[in-house]
Amino acid sequence: MTSFEESGLAKPVLKAIAELGFETPTPIQSQAIPELLSGNRDLVALAQTGTGKTAAFGLPLANLLDFQSRKTQAVILCPTRELCMQIARDIQNYTKYMQGAHTVAIYGGASIEGQIRDVRKGPQIIVGTPGRMIDMIERGIIDLSTIEFVILDEADEMLHMGFKEDLDTILSETPEEKNTWLFSATMPNEVARIARSYMNDPFEITVGGRNTGNENIEHQYYVVHARDKYLALKRIADYNPDIFAIVFCRTKAETQEVADMLIKDGYNADALHGDLSQSQRDHVMKRYRSRALQMLVATDVAARGIDVNDVSHVINYNLPDEIESYTHRSGRTARAGKTGVSIVIINMKEVFKIRQLEKIIRQPFTKVMVPTPFEVCEKQLFHLVHQVHNVTVAEKAISSYLPKVYEELNDLSREEIIQRFISIEFNRFLDYYKSAPDLNIEERKGDSRGTQKGVVKMFVNLGQMDGLDANSLRTVLAEIANVNVQDITWVDLKNTFSLIEVRISILEQMLGSFGNAKYRGRAIRVESRGNKEAGIPRTRLRSDHSYGRGYGGPRSEQDYSQRGYDGPRRDSHSFGKKKKSSGYKKKASRY
Ligand code: AMP
Repeated sequence: MTSFEESGLAKPVLKAIAELGFETPTPIQSQAIPELLSGNRDLVALAQTGTGKTAAFGLPLANLLDFQSRKTQAVILCPTRELCMQIARDIQNYTKYMQGAHTVAIYGGASIEGQIRDVRKGPQIIVGTPGRMIDMIERGIIDLSTIEFVILDEADEMLHMGFKEDLDTILSETPEEKNTWLFSATMPNEVARIARSYMNDPFEITVGGRNTGNENIEHQYYVVHARDKYLALKRIADYNPDIFAIVFCRTKAETQEVADMLIKDGYNADALHGDLSQSQRDHVMKRYRSRALQMLVATDVAARGIDVNDVSHVINYNLPDEIESYTHRSGRTARAGKTGVSIVIINMKEVFKIRQLEKIIRQPFTKVMVPTPFEVCEKQLFHLVHQVHNVTVAEKAISSYLPKVYEELNDLSREEIIQRFISIEFNRFLDYYKSAPDLNIEERKGDSRGTQKGVVKMFVNLGQMDGLDANSLRTVLAEIANVNVQDITWVDLKNTFSLIEVRISILEQMLGSFGNAKYRGRAIRVESRGNKEAGIPRTRLRSDHSYGRGYGGPRSEQDYSQRGYDGPRRDSHSFGKKKKSSGYKKKASRY
């Protein structure tokens, strides 16, 4: 089926989805809808949220049920209240033009009386969480004997959450001849058991490959010391000024703690977890949906069923205990054909989990370096400049103030005004980042690290004893050689020397730029350690003038520890004057 028109869906349903803007069926819809419309087929679909699975079962249901009858004909079970409300809303939209259609949502954490009244009105479709559904069945409010369709949505998640017995009860008490449609992002044994026990020759659909994730998601990981996770999170947020993220933590306490720290540090963030009251959770979700929040810090359970489009980043602050839940987490981004990034922040000991995840999702992870202070500042600066450029000026409203303003700024040149306006916002970043460390650590330390593709390892005779940390070493070298900091891709700082990796494209420039350069009175010496695969030899160069000439020559004999440092390229920070303190954490909380 390539279009909804040829799918066999009834006219009122077609009209409703046209209004929702559904033009072409998603892959799961193309496969499921024609089969399910036959009205007599069990289904097992391996699909994530975001694939259009709600419509894949909701549209056929809208077609198959008898809306003139007041009997409940379909129950849809799903793991959480949020998802429950979402599915009910979606189905109400699909059945908007079906006369008599009535869908009700029932879930825990809300008063049962109102829901009982809703169910007594005779909905044809009930969407519920398993616990509340059982409660209503036991009270005799819901009668399963007339059920024709049972839909299990996010079956793996319901089992993770301990609803196994409730599902068994509901499935075994519904009529034998009903149809069961099961949707799951992953297929652990327990889900396979349900399919075997309760389904009859089911039609099977896999969207995006068995257990695999959405291909529009880019999976990235950052390796940092466990103690630096929070700082790395902040860097990621600062590097992406327009971030609209869900940050996943493992426990409620951790969720609250991370959210509190973010709020204290000035981010638009809040926590979503099970210790909050329902109205607090609703309030947080409302703020997130309206984008008053940029970062929602959540537990897996609380974030289930969150259907927010345009989430730009899913950040795994800690990986889930059940590694398979990663798929659910990452599925919160790249919805409805959009792209998104799923990030894992891990420490060295957890790197093996990335390899496990790659096998589960059958997609590669990219290792990404935590942005350096320089990179963050550059990004923020241009974000600010961009905003200044594009801001709408309320000319009328400010016109009466402007003459005085012009007068006040009269003695400043255009450049000075620009500098000052930018500094108002940007100084706090410079302040925070000028002494912030490089947070990256390597998966394998030391010289034994295999050289990566496209880079060359180099030796530099500067190290910790020169008062440098990895980050300031990179900046000093880049400054002298006049290359981009980003092209120095790795630093292993030792006491008296360091090993670095640079992109092959800047090797010659690196070799040619340190002729007479000194740092704290010591001549700087760099050597290439070569890259056999790329045919690049080792060199042994001491202040070799001949190298520098092609690149404007080694700069004048200058001690770079004495120079003012204009930073991030141009600021008053001076390298080499004092040893970096480890007190950056205290500074971090100031910002
Ligand atoms: P779901 O996987 O059901 O959570 O759906 C993900 C999102 O895709 C929802 O916002 C749907 O409204 C949207 N959607 C589902 N099917 C289509 C379609 N055929 N065309 C456009 N958007 C769709």
